[in-house]
Amino acid sequence: RRGASLTDLAEKINVDAAQLVQVLFSLGEMVTATQSVNDETLQLLGAELNYNIQVVSPEDEDRELLERFDLEFGEDEGDEEDLEARPAVVTVMGHVDHGKTKLLDAIRRSNVVAGEAGGITQTIGAYQVSTEVDDVERRITFIDTPGHEAFTAMRARGAKSTDIAILVVAADDGVMPQTIEALNHALAADVPVVVAVNKIDKETADPSKVRGQLTEYGLVPEEYGGETMFVDVSAVSRQGLDELLEAVVLTADAALDLRANPTMDAQGVAIEAHLDKGRGPVATVLVQRGTLKVGDSIVAGPAHGRVRALVNDIGEHVPEAPPSMPVQVLGLTSVPGAGDSFLVVADDRTARQIADQREARKRAAAQAAGARRKTLDQLFEQ
Ligand code: GDP
Ligand code: MG
Repeated sequence: RRGASLTDLAEKINVDAAQLVQVLFSLGEMVTATQSVNDETLQLLGAELNYNIQVVSPEDEDRELLERFDLEFGEDEGDEEDLEARPAVVTVMGHVDHGKTKLLDAIRRSNVVAGEAGGITQTIGAYQVSTEVDDVERRITFIDTPGHEAFTAMRARGAKSTDIAILVVAADDGVMPQTIEALNHALAADVPVVVAVNKIDKETADPSKVRGQLTEYGLVPEEYGGETMFVDVSAVSRQGLDELLEAVVLTADAALDLRANPTMDAQGVAIEAHLDKGRGPVATVLVQRGTLKVGDSIVAGPAHGRVRALVNDIGEHVPEAPPSMPVQVLGLTSVPGAGDSFLVVADDRTARQIADQREARKRAAAQAAGARRKTLDQLFEQ
């Protein structure tokens, strides 16, 4: 496991950690028992002691855990013929103060899929909008979590939650350091980018400068013969919003095959979660495949439970949530982390067993980290 120490290893192979320290010392490596050691050192030790040491990542470990219950989280979508088109999932990124929040708000206000309850009663950290492209109604899911931190956390956990990134650049300010940082995150995740050139209502706006700047970073506007759609918008005057949504749909159609199987047991990712005084643990999840239903037994990271209620982005209770739909889940026994994957399992018992094992691992990892910190503290005390 990543971050394993000689003490961890000693426990596993039932020897004294001090002996392992000695063996490594004789091989010219100075390592303390509680210090975390790298893979090569573990392999070196294994070779010396005639142990075949396999380094297992936390992701592999979790995969094995699920396999024991005959479960798999991931891309498998079951039968090809069950696949159906699903809405694109979009994250908004960009430099601070370039208008991400304002833009998300403006889009939500003018296009939110209003139901009977109508209006915007509640924010759940994600929402769906509807727009017409070539006379066909198309939905888009926006993830409303602040900035790209959540995006990075999710990607670090291997959960690809975003299909398309909207890169917001203020036309009066131009490309800034976090613009490039955000762009690099999107490129690293292999997510296509649509550029929203924002604040074009301002007198000092210079949208063509933004196009020129981003061209230098490889985002060449379509109108210059490139492949990236740039749309001039204003979150204040609301101009360009429909064009931006259309650009998202067109980019998805051109670059991505967005389909999912709504017939299978639901899987997805937790976008945000918190403890609500009245309702208990509340998690906003994005369904990525399958259909999540009230009554399902689910496990979300180290949390588990039975879905007691599902609440959509305008605060309505819904019986189920199909692929690409963000929905609040009530009924978990604890609060999962942002970026944790969730999946529906056969029964409550399975959910609890998986959650318990994950919780135990989380505790062990925290303890190991604590032990390492202690040795460092001791070093500084001296
Ligand atoms: P964020 O940090 O990227 O989320 O930026 P905000 O959405 O908080 O916006 C930063 C500031 O820019 C706020 O004062 C907004 O009112 C303002 N702002 C955002 N979009 C526009 C726009 O299109 N035009 C103008 N004039 N101001 C905007
Ligand atoms: Mg903001």
